[in-house]
Amino acid sequence: GQNNAPDYLKGLNPEQRLAVETTEGPVLVLAGAGTGKTRVLTTRIAHILATGKAFPSQILAVTFTNKAAREMKIRIGVLIGEGNVEGMPWLGTFHSIGVKLLRRHAELAGLRSDFTILDTDDVVRLIKQLIQAEGLDDKRWPAKQFAQMIDGWKNKGQGPAEIAEGDARAFANGKGRELYKAYQARLQTLNACDFGDLLCHPIRIFRANPDVLKEYHKRFKYILVDEYQDTNTAQYMWLRLLAQRPQSSPLEGEVPAKRAEGVGAEGTSRTSSTAARTPPDRAAPGHPPLKGEGYQRTATVNICCVGDDDQSIYGWRGAEIDNILRFDKDFPGATIIRLERNYRSTAHILGAASHLIAHNEGRFGKTLFTDRDEPEDGKVHVHAAWDSEEEARAVGETIETYQRQKHNLNDMAILVRASFQMREFEDRFVTLGLNYRVIGGPRFYERMEIRDALAFFRVVAQGADDLAFERIVNVPKRGLGEATIRQIHDTARALRIPMLEAAAKLAESDELKPKPRAALREVAANFERWQKALETTPHTELAETILEESGYTDMWKNDRSVEAPGRLENLKELIRSMEEYESLRSFLEHVALVMDAEQNAGLDAVSIMTLHSAKGLEFETVFLPGWEEGLFPHQRALDEGGRSGLEEERRLAYVGLTRAKKNLHLWFVSNRRIHGLWQSTIPSRFLDELPEAHVEVAESGNSYGGYGNSYGGGSFASGRGGQGAGRQNPYGASRFDNVGADTEKSGAFSNTYATPGWQRAQANRTEATDRNW
Ligand code: ATP
Ligand code: MG
Repeated sequence: GQNNAPDYLKGLNPEQRLAVETTEGPVLVLAGAGTGKTRVLTTRIAHILATGKAFPSQILAVTFTNKAAREMKIRIGVLIGEGNVEGMPWLGTFHSIGVKLLRRHAELAGLRSDFTILDTDDVVRLIKQLIQAEGLDDKRWPAKQFAQMIDGWKNKGQGPAEIAEGDARAFANGKGRELYKAYQARLQTLNACDFGDLLCHPIRIFRANPDVLKEYHKRFKYILVDEYQDTNTAQYMWLRLLAQRPQSSPLEGEVPAKRAEGVGAEGTSRTSSTAARTPPDRAAPGHPPLKGEGYQRTATVNICCVGDDDQSIYGWRGAEIDNILRFDKDFPGATIIRLERNYRSTAHILGAASHLIAHNEGRFGKTLFTDRDEPEDGKVHVHAAWDSEEEARAVGETIETYQRQKHNLNDMAILVRASFQMREFEDRFVTLGLNYRVIGGPRFYERMEIRDALAFFRVVAQGADDLAFERIVNVPKRGLGEATIRQIHDTARALRIPMLEAAAKLAESDELKPKPRAALREVAANFERWQKALETTPHTELAETILEESGYTDMWKNDRSVEAPGRLENLKELIRSMEEYESLRSFLEHVALVMDAEQNAGLDAVSIMTLHSAKGLEFETVFLPGWEEGLFPHQRALDEGGRSGLEEERRLAYVGLTRAKKNLHLWFVSNRRIHGLWQSTIPSRFLDELPEAHVEVAESGNSYGGYGNSYGGGSFASGRGGQGAGRQNPYGASRFDNVGADTEKSGAFSNTYATPGWQRAQANRTEATDRNW
């Protein structure tokens, strides 16, 4: 009974508890934002461990981000004591678990276990070489486009042999398939793989080696997946291989799914019906299935997936919302549990979000309610600003106001639709001296000096990493021209050896002129020395040595550009960040995987991230800037024309709104520079889809006071002058149309928003072009 229940079960509602305690058999929790899905998963793991059903190493748990995995581990520790969570080696993202699997069985994929993981930049460079080697025009057939095609194929789990004929023909005069093949072959020579391979290689290994797969069937007694709505086909195939045990059922599809919706008052009877359907003998791990019993196909597939179809936001990356919808076909007899109580947000926030998402047609539809309705809880605030600089300033002011009211910065987040929006906030916060951290983008690691440094480290860690070698062989400049580099290439190809080795060989031959020869000899000697030192020297110390001895640090010290000091600081930061890792290799692995590079960790700081990377997170106070047509919904989705792109944008909006616990501020601006061009903008249609009962259009809290009166005006339909002309709101008049509008015609504003402001904003911006993230 409830009273004897262990502490970690107390406080769960009956549906949540059912999801936690139904440990045997397939379970799907399909529920809206903030209903405790992730909490269910965490508690379920705690329960499995606490009841001794499995060791930590026998649980496979997939989260969407590395950060989520870390948090889950900590929370399980809180529930059942840190010592009991020790291990959990298989708690992570699809990718991080994929790396681990692949390192163990690399030889089955034709790799060595020290393979390198290439990032997008490397991949594009490699493909460009292949396109040129084919004698194709790489302007006509851009490498970047082909990289995306390959990524798309890999998301579907398709190798060169499996792609559709039409797809293969679409690129490079019908050479698509050949190129893809050549690309895979090249990766193998480089002892490298790309992100997609982290899933595709294990899938292929499992299929070709039943004994290996069997080993994991034995190992993983329990499988858990968070954010199931965003799994793509490859991830789905990977999961099914691991979750579905060999004996396939003659009854497949015939066992109806048990639905435990609305358990509420009758919770106990439903619980017992679930228990009856899951016979104890079947439930007991390791017990052989009974002959003649309908369930024998599965040696107990203990898989629990949780998700929300309304939060599927990775369709553009191949996520298949259908995966969640066909769960009970894949896992017959699944218990499907719905959670309807939201524990996260106030009634106003939840009301706004539910109303918005109801505009989507392709959805299950669900009810959500909350008890959180305290008198001081305010409505959702909508603010207008003149341009993005003004927006950043106003957000900064609001944050400072909260800060004065003793709110922690850690409890606040700014969630943007596109990462270019971040710069303005960063700049503003630096000016204000407000701590912030950017989460989700490999931003720091993408900086030029960081990439250079990492390339040095990569060659030291893995001598066959030709892409890294090529990046830095002539950095700093050593007079190695293209001809020499081509020669290194040719030698490497002819002798089938890595470029570093080829360079060493050339340095000893007389094929080169004395100057490049001396330069190469130095390069080869350097790497030889550093590689030796790898065994004996602490890796941070070695990293510093490498940057000094290579002349890289000096290169920036002697650089007179304004960026140089910042770059040197970044390099220092890089070395500092390495201290957290045991070895150079584990650090490089982290860098390759990291999706949530964190700065200011441990400090009280505002988080800035994209809406996409905010999935699953929650904050007391959330700021959502840039709610304008063309930015949000994004132009790409609007150009598509169809319903699906727009609906995915709306789901993204729903994700954004539901991140907030207490305070929610939305912003839109009248002028925004997108891709270097100023445009006057139209408020997002999503703003109009928010119910007035839950929304409050903020009185201007900024320096452009005086447009408060125009909200009530109702004459919102006026056309737009200037660049806005012709960009009529395509979906009819909006109640936000003229809030903060910029036109000469809307007289009320023209004086307040005098041109000088506009020009000033523009002038400020000419220098600071959008940073290259
Ligand atoms: P999302 O769809 O956004 O990922 P979710 O369904 O995973 O949301 P959680 O993050 O697990 O929701 O929970 C939302 C918040 O509600 C958390 O702060 C969690 O601790 C809290 N919560 C969940 N269940 C309960 C409960 N039974 N009692 C009290 N608080 C709860
Ligand atoms: Mg969650």
